[in-house]
Amino acid sequence: MAGRRKISTSPDVPLLEGPVRTCVGCRERATKSELLRVIAGSDANGQPVVVPDPDGTATGRGAHLHPTSACYDLAVRRKAFARALFPQGRQSVGGLSSAPVGEYLDPLDHQQ
Ligand SMILES: [Zn+2]
Repeated sequence: MAGRRKISTSPDVPLLEGPVRTCVGCRERATKSELLRVIAGSDANGQPVVVPDPDGTATGRGAHLHPTSACYDLAVRRKAFARALFPQGRQSVGGLSSAPVGEYLDPLDHQQ
């Protein structure tokens, strides 16, 4: 730990350290380290799926999401993954699966 820097030039604006991204679920901005990166991948049948990229190392187009089921549900309902990851092919990804992300966020649910 290098210690926290406290710089309060503008108390209304929380100081976020590092790159800031917008959560595709709640649309709030947060630092990259608070968010889970997801990317476009494909499943065993070659169908597009959204997969988690917790290390943020995968190349290609990614989207960011708070790692909570609430934000995940919001993103699913808004079809935000398809919009963020497949901006050119919205129609063809109407059935875009993001199950791998749901399982990543809530693994206990899927063990029952
Ligand atoms: Zn969020």
